[in-house]
Amino acid sequence: MNAQLIEGKVVAKSVRSGLKPRIAALKERGVTPGLATVLVGDDPASAIYVNSKIKACERLKLHSEAIQRPAELTQAELLKLVSDLNEDKNIHGILVQSPLPDQIDELTVTLAIDPRKDVDGFHPFNVGLMLLGRPGLLPCTPHGIIKLLEHYEINPAGKEVVVVGRSNIVGKPVAAILQQKAKMADATVTVAHSRSKNLADICRRADILIAAVGRPAMITVDMVQPGAVIIDVGQNRVEDSSVEKGYRVVGDVDFPQVQEVASYITPVPGGVGPMTIAMLMSNTVAAAESITSEG
Ligand code: NDP
Repeated sequence: MNAQLIEGKVVAKSVRSGLKPRIAALKERGVTPGLATVLVGDDPASAIYVNSKIKACERLKLHSEAIQRPAELTQAELLKLVSDLNEDKNIHGILVQSPLPDQIDELTVTLAIDPRKDVDGFHPFNVGLMLLGRPGLLPCTPHGIIKLLEHYEINPAGKEVVVVGRSNIVGKPVAAILQQKAKMADATVTVAHSRSKNLADICRRADILIAAVGRPAMITVDMVQPGAVIIDVGQNRVEDSSVEKGYRVVGDVDFPQVQEVASYITPVPGGVGPMTIAMLMSNTVAAAESITSEG
């Protein structure tokens, strides 16, 4: 069997198309949704992520502010910047790119962001709403995964879902969303991690297998139930001297082997990645709608 590709680029485009009339309606009311990105230090990978977010804003004609600060920035200075952005009427979404330098505590910074502008969905207020199954700003990558499943009419209800990885930004939230009593959820979810025993056995139970680990090709074909749906979140740089950059990006799944037995599979790149950015745009528009409707 050759799996059907889950094309994140195509689904991301349809998410963007869905946002356009909402952006137009906001602009008619004199509101341009605005996203501020804050980059501290000069980590090249973080700079690439931030640039792609700014470009996505430009494509949708949203307002964006790319703020860059040196690696020596103090926590107090960053908190002051966040506080100013909370007050800024032109900004509806605030994204502080991680990782942050050691002198800055990420949770303290996240707590300082107005939850209404928390377009990453990382603020404990929004995390709480997500766990309660109430509307709020959902984290972008997990939300993007749900949208991919929805687009391909893969209903997780009653299915065995295995999530490999328990990070606060991907593994835990996608598990929390999929086990809700709700549409595009109602799954039986298992979360595996580095301390899990018999990982291959656990993975083979999965009707839907979500890999969010950060280890190239660690999900091998023997870990996959024939016909399973494979969502590969991993974005790993591996050396490749045959390309100009000297590296290429691969997922956590051994794609060539696994695609022969899976029913659906996300490619890397072009699978989950574009959805993360599309859902960031979606959260920015939703934040602008909700903040400006409060009068
Ligand atoms: P983290 O490093 O925060 O978490 C990795 C998780 O994988 C941890 O829970 C860890 O377990 C688990 N793990 C590590 N080794 C093993 C192993 N051998 N067996 C089973 N579990 C293991 O990563 P993130 O969640 O932030 O990211 C995961 C991947 O997804 C990365 O490649 C990242 O680049 C990518 N990513 C992609 C995004 C996109 O838009 N496509 C967005 C965000 C991330 P433990 O908790 O026990 O340490």
